[in-house]
Amino acid sequence: MKQSPNDPKQYKPFTLANGLRVLLIENSESNRSAAALAVNAGHFDDPSDRQGLAHFLEHMLFLGTEKYPESGEYQQYLSQHNGSSNAWTGTEHTCFYFDINHQHFNDAIDRFSQFFTAPLLSQEFIEKERQNIDAEFKLKLKDDMRRIYDVHKETINPEHPFSKFSVGSLDTLSDRTDSCLKDEVTRFYNEHYCAQRMTLAIEGPQPIADLERLVIEKFSAIRSEIQPKIKVSEPLYKKEHLGISVDIKPEKDDRKLILSFAMPGIDTSYLYKPVSYLSYLLGHEGSGSILAYLKNKQWAMALTSGGGVNGANFKDFNISIRLTEEGEQHQDEIIALVFAYIQLMSKTGINDTYFNEKKAISEFSFQYQEKLKPLDSVNQLVINMQHYPVHDYIYGDYVMAELKPDLVAEFLDYLRPENMRIIRINQHVTTDQISHWYKVPYKKSAIDSNLIVHWQSDLLFKELSLPKPNPYIVNKPTLVPAKDEISVPALIKNKPGLKVWFKQDCSFFVPKGQIFIGIDSTVAVESKAHIAMTRLFVELFSDSVLEQNYHAELAGIHYHLYPHQGGMTLQLSGINEKQPLLLENLLDSIKDHSLAIERFKLFKKQLVVNWRNAEKSKSISQLFAKLSALMKPYSPSGKDLAAALEQVSYENFTDFCEAYFNKLCIEVFIYGNWLEPQAKSMAKLISAKLSEHLDENEGVSSKVVDYKGKGKSLLPLHIPDHDYASVIYYPMENDDVQSVALTMVTSHLLSPHFFHQMRTEQQFGYLVGVGYVPMNRFPGVAFYIQSPDTTADALFSAMDDFINEFDVNISTDEWQHLQHGLIGQLQEKDTSPRIKSQRYWVSICNKDYGFDQKEQLVKEIENLTLTDIADFIKNKLANNKPVDKICLASVKHSDELAYLLNNNRVINDIDVFHQKNIYKS
Ligand SMILES: [Zn+2]
Repeated sequence: MKQSPNDPKQYKPFTLANGLRVLLIENSESNRSAAALAVNAGHFDDPSDRQGLAHFLEHMLFLGTEKYPESGEYQQYLSQHNGSSNAWTGTEHTCFYFDINHQHFNDAIDRFSQFFTAPLLSQEFIEKERQNIDAEFKLKLKDDMRRIYDVHKETINPEHPFSKFSVGSLDTLSDRTDSCLKDEVTRFYNEHYCAQRMTLAIEGPQPIADLERLVIEKFSAIRSEIQPKIKVSEPLYKKEHLGISVDIKPEKDDRKLILSFAMPGIDTSYLYKPVSYLSYLLGHEGSGSILAYLKNKQWAMALTSGGGVNGANFKDFNISIRLTEEGEQHQDEIIALVFAYIQLMSKTGINDTYFNEKKAISEFSFQYQEKLKPLDSVNQLVINMQHYPVHDYIYGDYVMAELKPDLVAEFLDYLRPENMRIIRINQHVTTDQISHWYKVPYKKSAIDSNLIVHWQSDLLFKELSLPKPNPYIVNKPTLVPAKDEISVPALIKNKPGLKVWFKQDCSFFVPKGQIFIGIDSTVAVESKAHIAMTRLFVELFSDSVLEQNYHAELAGIHYHLYPHQGGMTLQLSGINEKQPLLLENLLDSIKDHSLAIERFKLFKKQLVVNWRNAEKSKSISQLFAKLSALMKPYSPSGKDLAAALEQVSYENFTDFCEAYFNKLCIEVFIYGNWLEPQAKSMAKLISAKLSEHLDENEGVSSKVVDYKGKGKSLLPLHIPDHDYASVIYYPMENDDVQSVALTMVTSHLLSPHFFHQMRTEQQFGYLVGVGYVPMNRFPGVAFYIQSPDTTADALFSAMDDFINEFDVNISTDEWQHLQHGLIGQLQEKDTSPRIKSQRYWVSICNKDYGFDQKEQLVKEIENLTLTDIADFIKNKLANNKPVDKICLASVKHSDELAYLLNNNRVINDIDVFHQKNIYKS
């Protein structure tokens, strides 16, 4: 098996006697163990009169096995030992996975392996789970991705299994007079869940021999295949499904043009990656590219290429363009432009420069592969095992063996107008039918033959050209000697308004570096309009430097400007050697910060639309956004930001930018494969570019509402066409480490019980949970449920009952497992320089200059007792005396709203609430 030279893990692939393909991974650096099992059965295998059956079975396997008949047992065991688990059902595969502290792996895998040898599939849970599947289906009814999928399924060859409905509902999964679901799901399981169709990857610190013994013991009982699987032979599209336009009306205010080209499956050509070559050029964003042209015309915001559904015998190659309002009026010209570029590619011929650039980047990523958590690693590998031969289980995604010009040309030839489907997604399309499952208005029509002829003719756009060679590609990146390594970041520059921290880190053996530059200004938070303009600046700036710096991005040096509560952060990451060059370019652009008025108008409009769209997201997300706006005055709701930004003129914006950049407070962190002199020279560069505008006073500190002693308040949201939802949030008074520990452990303890009670037993809905939800540094616990049919008020009662009746008397054993589980999670090693640097950066931003928050928290959790938790629940959460809590409700009807308003103290206006309150930070 080919393995990255930077990967210290031991691998052993083998096949069990029953035919199960296994990959064992010994990872001595982790204290977690993980397993993933994938089976080559998915919704494509659903009987056509039982759509959703594969997905239903995936759910049922969690609900009891012969050895562990109780339904919540597996999840409870995992969460007691700090494990996690999940599963998904795809088109051709279904995958199950979990991880846990390694001491408990054997017991966990004993439970997990039973899914595949002796599930109960009991009648009692069949009834309940049908409801849950239906709730899962209804939850996503307004999700545009699902909706577009639904139309896609209706406009292809109906004989192809992709056309089937994958989720399932009460409709498709109810018992019928001639057949009951239990028999069918059992039959499906017996036919598809056999060893030959499965792959299993397990990883942990255990020696390979132990893992091997474990697998043989637990998985040998999986039955072998009775009949080999029948391959899909029907084409995804017949002639009548190509050369068509599909116009779709989305829920959200979105504008997309997707050109989708039909290709055969690409699994067999994985060694040569012909499609990557095409997407490298078509998706290019540098000068001469399709996107550069469209942006210059103000027709598009973004373009991606190469995505699209794929499977054993099909691949959609999509060029997906996010249009502006103006662009929506020029769609035929845009399509002509794309074909002009494709013609340019074929006239120029297949060029090995591009292939070699792409290959160099791919080889680099493999060579210096980032370490993944065991759970992520097994998840990826178990699917690779379904697609690649043993030798390429790891390398398969990266390999680009050699340029095969004929093969690339063959795939390039699929990019023809008559082999295309045009998908137009926007609010202004005319439609003449409604899709079956998601009720999406759409229209299907043949593309005008004159247009096809036009796009086939010689098209010339003199602005288009193929990319120049990339100056940022580093062929042999080097590691610096480990001579400046110290245990925590050190301050190497400190003057009023500018602090620079540095830490060399050689522990990952990767030639990568991270630079964080916090560019704060008190101007950023003066008003909602300023907060909105800070976000707008981030968008506009990122857009304005994109074309110029795209080569760096392609070469593995990434940069990202993002807003935070006191301003914005510029982050550089990736191969470090040429980062100073990019840094200088970016600082020059920031210093200049002049942004064109046309782009201003466009992005302002776009941002307003995005913020308004947030009002269409699911009710639970809306409630959490509202909670955050209430508690953090520098995080207003999307609605408020939209309203504020709408009033802003270009002059306001340029004035704002001047004021912002005249009063800067800069904090920098340089981390990774650098020596101190290099860090110092970058510090000097940053200082030289920005120092004339430093604000010598303290920077911005993020505020949180001090809710102490306020009792219970209600924040209602009246959204008639959304699900009911309720959130109860308990904000804590202090941010000391004891409050954090108590809040964290309590939510961890309650979580599986709450889930079991509300979702499995009472079946309120699909989205339920208890979480540790801090507001900036201040801890808090949130209970939440979203429900299609239970009113918000009834949900509140159920949650109150749960909290009041909760019995903390768990066994000492269970308590210790919980404690150790959490501690284990906190002590988990950082698996990549990215994660480690982010952790340091958060500490710097929180002014935790001892860099030991985690250690303190571990000590605190070790000292907690069950009595502490019982007291905490009694004093801070339970209803027997007045406690501080905020109840958020999403209601459908005005009489419910009136009822809630009459019976609670209500926060009607967040601004008024803010004016009356004091803050802490
Ligand atoms: Zn599901």
